[in-house]
Amino acid sequence: MTTINSVLGSLDTANLGFTLMHEHLLVASAGISQNYAELLGAGFIDRIVDGLTQAKKGGVDTIVDATTLDLGRDVTIIAEASRRSGVNIIACSGWWLDTPRFLGGVSADQFAQLFIREIREGIAGTGIKAGILKSASDVGGVTPAGETVLRAVARAHLQTNVPIMLHSYSPGQVGRQQLAILKEEGVDLRRVKMDHSNDTTDVEYLTWLLEQGCYLGLDRYPGFNVSSQARTRTMKALIDAGYANRLLPSHDHSLVGVIGEASPIQLADREKRNPHGYLYMKKVVLAQLKEMGVPKAILNSLCVDGPRNFFEGV
Ligand SMILES: [Zn+2]
Repeated sequence: MTTINSVLGSLDTANLGFTLMHEHLLVASAGISQNYAELLGAGFIDRIVDGLTQAKKGGVDTIVDATTLDLGRDVTIIAEASRRSGVNIIACSGWWLDTPRFLGGVSADQFAQLFIREIREGIAGTGIKAGILKSASDVGGVTPAGETVLRAVARAHLQTNVPIMLHSYSPGQVGRQQLAILKEEGVDLRRVKMDHSNDTTDVEYLTWLLEQGCYLGLDRYPGFNVSSQARTRTMKALIDAGYANRLLPSHDHSLVGVIGEASPIQLADREKRNPHGYLYMKKVVLAQLKEMGVPKAILNSLCVDGPRNFFEGV
C-alpha cells in the first residue's frame, strides 16, 4: 500500500481511480486570487466546483493540479473544490517558468527546503500538503533559473520520495537536457513524468524517453499545433509498442483563467475547441482509440494503471 498527499489528507493509491495527471483548476499568476480576484470573473469558485462536479459525474476520480505558486496556486480554493465536488486533488510544489527577480539569488538547496516543507508540513500555513513536485523548461531549453529549480526539485524528491513532473518542450527534445540533470542529481527516472510529450509526433524521441524509464504525460488535449487526431495516433503507436501503462493522458485544461480584455484565448473560443472540459479524454480520445482498434482492457486501464504505477514508483 502506498499513500500520497491529496489536498484533503492521505490518499491510498488503490483509491486513485480514473486519474487525470495534468490539469489546472485555475491559472493566473502568484497572488491573483488573493488580491485581484475580480480578474478571475464573478463566482469563479462556483465555476471550478461545477467543472469538477461534471467531471466526477462523468467518471473522473482524481486530478493532479499542476498549478505552482507562480501560476497562481491557491490551495484553500483547491481544497474547497475537492471537498464540494468529491474529486481527489493532488497539489504540486516546485516552480514553473515565472521566476521573479527576487528569487534570482535563491540557491537550489534553499528552494529544496521550501518544497520539502510544502510536502511535509503543508503550503502557506494551511497544513495542506503537496503530493507532486514540478519543474519547467520550455523553448529555450534549460535556462540557469530553470536548472536551479530542476536541481531543487530533484533534491526535494530524494528527501521525500514525492515524484516529479516536468513541463517540457517536446518539439525541441528539451527532455534530453532535463533528464541529464536529474541523472546527475541521482534521481531514478522511473519517478519522473515528462509532460506535454504529445506536442510532438516524433515516436522515436518519445520511445527514447520511455527507455530512460520515465513516464510520458500525453497531457495536451485538444492542444495546439498538433491535431487531436495526430496526438491520438501517436498514443496508439506507443500503446502498440507495449508502453500503455507508462502513458499518462490528460488535457492541461483550466476551468478558470484571468479574464483579460486582451486575452489571446477567450473563454468562448476555448469552449468551442473543447466543450467537454475534463471529460474530453473519455468522450473523444478513448473513442478515437477504440475506433483505431485498441483493446477494451487497455482502454479501461488508461488513466488508471499508469497514474497508480507512477505514484507507487513501479
Ligand atoms: Zn499545465
